[in-house]
Amino acid sequence: MTEKIQMKNPLVEIDGDEMTRILWALVKEKLILPYIDLKTEYYDLAIMNREATVDKVTVQAAEAIKRLGVGVKCATITANAARKAEYNLTALFPSPNATIRAILDGTVFRGPISVSCVQPSVSTWKKPIVIGRHAYGDVYKSAEMIIPAAGKVELVYTPADNTSAAGAPQRVTVAEMKGPGIVQGMHNLDESIRSFARACFIYALREKLPVWFAAKDTISKTYDGRFKEIFNEVYETEYKEKCAAAGIEYFYTLIDDAVARAVKGEGGFLWACKNYDGDVQSDMIASAAGSLAMMTSVLVSPSGVFEYEAAHGTVQRHYYQWQKGEKTSTNPIALIFAWTGALAKRAELDATPELSAFAQRLEASVLATIEDGEMTGDLACLARPAPPRVLDSWEFIDAIAGRL
Ligand code: NAP
Ligand code: MG
Repeated sequence: MTEKIQMKNPLVEIDGDEMTRILWALVKEKLILPYIDLKTEYYDLAIMNREATVDKVTVQAAEAIKRLGVGVKCATITANAARKAEYNLTALFPSPNATIRAILDGTVFRGPISVSCVQPSVSTWKKPIVIGRHAYGDVYKSAEMIIPAAGKVELVYTPADNTSAAGAPQRVTVAEMKGPGIVQGMHNLDESIRSFARACFIYALREKLPVWFAAKDTISKTYDGRFKEIFNEVYETEYKEKCAAAGIEYFYTLIDDAVARAVKGEGGFLWACKNYDGDVQSDMIASAAGSLAMMTSVLVSPSGVFEYEAAHGTVQRHYYQWQKGEKTSTNPIALIFAWTGALAKRAELDATPELSAFAQRLEASVLATIEDGEMTGDLACLARPAPPRVLDSWEFIDAIAGRL
């Protein structure tokens, strides 16, 4: 028996729900615990434990990531009316990811895991496109109104106090409505945009990727114009030299131009997206890459704290099959890469090269397993050549363990 790899400091482990919870335990048992003397601070975000702790456990988990610097998270149920009935919940707590994101002030980066037997549907793409989505404000925190009949709609700013920075109250006409219609008011904060830009440059420098940022400042001269201005200011004052040293370019263009270039280009860049653009583009990238289970997701805070997870949810449909005693063919790759991402980050912060080498070895074992034609159903139907048979999750994880 060889000695297990030691960790200097713990990372935060956040357990979750349904099928991903089953896979989580399996991945740890077969691929991590036999090799690593694992040190974690464990938080159970299973829906019943969030209910039992009045959601305090979610806040504690986020605070722990802030303290320890690295976390890895399983997918969790976001409660809605159907889940309330299913689990007999007394309250609908907010999405754990939203709570954690708000506490860490983070930006979410999503990138596909590429394997040569599954080609992206965009044939020119040679390298992954990573989406960095600004996760605050805009239409996601907007106020909307139905306008019943003709009338004037205005934007009004009332200063909180009479400091010179606040200036005088302001008022601007949105529209002189000629009849019934709709109106929407949205906002963002300079500080949040600044954090977003910083998180993008931190990520890009780490991954050695050029940064694209796109908005529509020709039309939205003040709102999108402010985004462009702050992004540019953060680049010029904080990252220009670091980027030059790393050979990374920063590129601003209009959002429609960015979309056109992205589908004609060969990929290999970080696409910093405003909130809505990121919502839309990340689904496009995920579906073009083949399977939701091949998308990684990492939350990066401007203070340099990282939380890794899979981009997919709890895979509810498979869980119900599993409960009936079936062995499902659920793909654990994004979950495994969440673990390797977190272990590699821990290794980098603690300067423990053995741990970092292990993370690389585990990722290589996963990719080699697929390249050898052993895979779960979601990939099997896309792979060329098609594999001889579809493995269930247990067989697939054993196949990875065999190579590891
Ligand atoms: P989902 O869990 O992402 O699954 C949607 C479908 O995508 C699955 O039914 C499956 O398709 C396919 N899929 C996703 N991951 C897969 C994997 N690893 N292997 C194989 N196929 C996979 O989304 P959902 O069913 O809409 O949501 C379930 C729960 O997850 C919800 O309660 C939601 O709130 C939560 N959620 C959590 C997070 C998070 O914690 N980060 C993110 C999103 C959703 P087939 O059925 O066709 O096989
Ligand atoms: Mg979306």
